[in-house]
This record gives sequence, structure tokens and C-alpha cells, in this order.
Amino acid sequence: MNAPARLEHTSSYYAASAHPAPMRPPLQGVQQVDVCVIGAGYTGLSTALHLAERGYQVAVLEAARVGWGASGRNGGQIVNSYSRDMDVIERRHGKAAATALGAMAFEGGRIIRERIERYGIQCDLKTGNVFAAFTQKQLDELAAKKRLWESHGHTGLQLIDREGMRGIVASQQYAGALLDNWGGHLHPLNLALGEAAALESLGGRIFEQSAALKIHPGGRVRVETACGEISSRFLVVAGNAYLGELVPALAEKSLPCGTQVITTERLPEALAKSLLPGDHCVEDCNFLLDYYRLTADNRLLYGGGTVYGARDPGEVERLIRPKMLKTFPQLADYKIEFGWTGNFSLTLSRLPQAGRIGDNIYYSQGCSGHGVTYTHLAGRLLAEAIDGDSARFDHFAGLPHYPFPGGRALRVPMLTLGAWWYGLRDRLGW
Ligand SMILES: Cc1cc2nc3c(=O)[nH]c(=O)nc-3n(C[C@H](O)[C@H](O)[C@H](O)COP(=O)(O)OP(=O)(O)OC[C@H]3O[C@@H](n4cnc5c(N)ncnc54)[C@H](O)[C@@H]3O)c2cc1C
Repeated sequence: MNAPARLEHTSSYYAASAHPAPMRPPLQGVQQVDVCVIGAGYTGLSTALHLAERGYQVAVLEAARVGWGASGRNGGQIVNSYSRDMDVIERRHGKAAATALGAMAFEGGRIIRERIERYGIQCDLKTGNVFAAFTQKQLDELAAKKRLWESHGHTGLQLIDREGMRGIVASQQYAGALLDNWGGHLHPLNLALGEAAALESLGGRIFEQSAALKIHPGGRVRVETACGEISSRFLVVAGNAYLGELVPALAEKSLPCGTQVITTERLPEALAKSLLPGDHCVEDCNFLLDYYRLTADNRLLYGGGTVYGARDPGEVERLIRPKMLKTFPQLADYKIEFGWTGNFSLTLSRLPQAGRIGDNIYYSQGCSGHGVTYTHLAGRLLAEAIDGDSARFDHFAGLPHYPFPGGRALRVPMLTLGAWWYGLRDRLGW
């Protein structure tokens, strides 16, 4: 039988600038551990690392390479809270849920900073993320977000008016912004690689090129790969937008969506600094939002899109470059050196989905575009729950998970229609 083809990182700026990392061998034979984790993105690595710190024997199965999925391709923006904020959670799910989730909404960012410090992870961490408003209506909404976050104990927020925007971003198109000094940005693949090394330093094992092909539930869960099997007391499913149909009950509740990123050639330092004088990352307030930041070597990394299906680098550049030039016409003469696409997982409520299947299979997925911080929180909550204290995990597990109306056949057309509608609203400023 032919060995399955090796899956390497997509050809991105991150893969080109990643720290050297070992090739981890595929799983061979039968292994027994306390916890098996499927997926070496932030959800899987964060869970495994928290468990290893608590003394559990952990093995991670990764279909490709560490950080191959969204965790190694994203905008690198540390954005606090969730894709739906606590006011929406309170209206839909009650005050208790909003208070509980509100208390955890800023923890993921703190976990990332702790990890970087404790394990000496080199990933170009910078401070400050900016939500940029095109209209007064969006700026008023940001003022309300500031009050909301402050009511949940999150400080360090600054509302910026049109005049103040000059010190934030060299673009004429914004009416103002909210600066979160506890947000920030980093090299996402190097964070994942650093977390993987931290896990291994505590005895955790990672098997690359080891797709989980079949799960056999039971008192000990067995997971089969092409050349081996892991038997464990607990299983954590952390494949998120790349999980496919391995667990049909999870597939029907979330939708993988693409978003695209380009990176310019290195810019002259003075030009780079003039674009983003505070070196913060920026995302705008549109539903189909653009997000951008400078890299450590003075490139502009610019993302946007949200379309379905993969696109080649040329197509990505054709889609995203005009958006970048609308924001920064001053970059018209600079080349794009990288373009790639990645999938995140959208849920109908735009809230993450965490829960259990039976007694000992856990999952978390569906960060709906803002997953860098949530996945790190999810890892801690999953570890707490497996270690016997599920109080905080259960606040997430208790949220309803809605299947997409119309089932799998209608998920994509309905979401495309939805994206078109929200795109129209963004263009008309409604
Ligand atoms: C282009 C892009 C830009 C983004 N920008 C931002 C941003 O700036 N800020 C932000 O907060 N969020 C952002 N996100 C979202 C964020 O990156 C994700 O929410 C987060 O990384 C999800 O992490 P994860 O570990 O759950 O999933 P992933 O990182 O996707 O990892 C899942 C892993 O599971 C593996 N896997 C799947 N199935 C199997 C199997 N059967 N067996 C073994 N392994 C398997 C995959 O190979 C993959 O490596 C962005 C996403 C994309 C795609």
C-alpha cells in the first residue's frame, strides 16, 4: 500500500519565516496514554500543554504539521472576547451565561502572554489591537463595546477620534477607533511551534502526518491512524475547520469558511512606521472585515475576504490587493510576495461550541473568526474539565449549538447569501 502523501505547510509568509522545527514522525503501532488530542493547532496544543502541566500523559495526532491549520496561517491578531459579545449573550442566553463568559473573555490573551514568558517563545509579540470605525454609527458601537468590556472588568481601552487616528493608522477612511492595550499581535506559526516544543519538554508527544481516521468510543477511546492506534481514557477533538466528516455530529453544526491573507515585500522602515505609527494591529468594523498589521521585518500583512473554497496565491492577490490599496494607496508600487488562504469555522450563533460526546470525548470548535484568544482559553477549560472540575467548561457546553438550517446541502448557499447581504450592508454603511 502507498504511504499517504505528506502534507506540508501552505506556502505563506509564516512558513517562510518560521523558526526551524523538527519533523515529528508519524504514529506507528499501539500507544496507551491518559489523553489523546486530535489536531495540533492552538486548541489541541493549549489543551495538551495544560494537561501535561497537570501531570497527564498526552499524545497529539496531527494530520499534517504542527500549526498547519488556521493556527499557523492567521492574521496573528490577539483580539479579546468572542465573535459575539456579552450583550448579545445576555439577550439570548441570560445574565448568568453573560456574567460567566464575561469573566473569562480576556483570559485567553493572558494565557498567551504567560505561555510566551514561561517557555521563552520567540514570536514577535507586540501590544495593542485597534477596532477601526468607518462611520459615526460604528464609532458609537465601539463606545458601547468599551462600556460593556469595562463592566466586565476589562481596562486599558481607549476611544480614538478622527483626529487621533493620525497617530494610529495612515489612512483617511476611518472616523475613529477603539484601542485595546491588552490585545496585540504576533507570528502565529512561531507561537504554535513554541507551544509544541513546550509540550514536548514536559513529556507530551506529537505525531505529525498522522490523521485520525476512525474513533472507537468506549471506557478507553481508541483512535486509528494509517499505521497505528492510540488508546486513552479521554479524547479531545480539536480539528476545528479542518476536521471534515470524522465526527458527523460536529460537522453539521459548523461551516468551514475561507479568508485570505497577502504580505508585501519588505518596506522601507520609515514607510512601514508611517503606515502604523503605534505598531498595533487593526481590524475594521465591517461584517466582512479587513485586518492588517506590520510584521517584524516591516512588511504589511493584510487579510480579508471570507469566501468559500481554496484559492491559489494569484487569486488571493487579485482579491485582497485592491482592499489593501484602498486603505493604503501609498503602497501601489510595492510587490506582494505571499498570498494564501485558510479556513476558520463559523457557527450559526457565532459563539464557539464546546462540549462532550458521551463521558470521555471532548471537543471545542467554531471560533467564528476570532480564535487566537478563545482557543487558548478553551485549552485551559478542557484541561480543567478532564481533571475533574468542569464548572467553567460547562458554561460554554451549556450554550445551545444550532445545526445549520437545511442541513449540509444548504449550509454553503445560505451562508453565501448571508455574506452577500452583510457585504451590501457594509458598502451602504447601514
Ligand atoms: C486566514 C485566517 C486568519 C485569521 N486571523 C485571525 C486573527 O487575526 N485573530 C484571531 O483571533 N483569529 C483569527 N483566525 C482564526 C484562528 O486562526 C482560529 O480560530 C484558530 O487558529 C483555530 O485553532 P484550532 O486549533 O481550533 O484549529 P486549527 O489551527 O485549524 O487546527 C486544527 C488542526 O487539526 C488538524 N486535524 C484536522 N482533522 C484531523 C484529523 N482527522 N486527524 C489529525 N489532525 C487533524 C489539522 O491538520 C489542523 O492542524 C484566522 C483564521 C484564518 C484561517
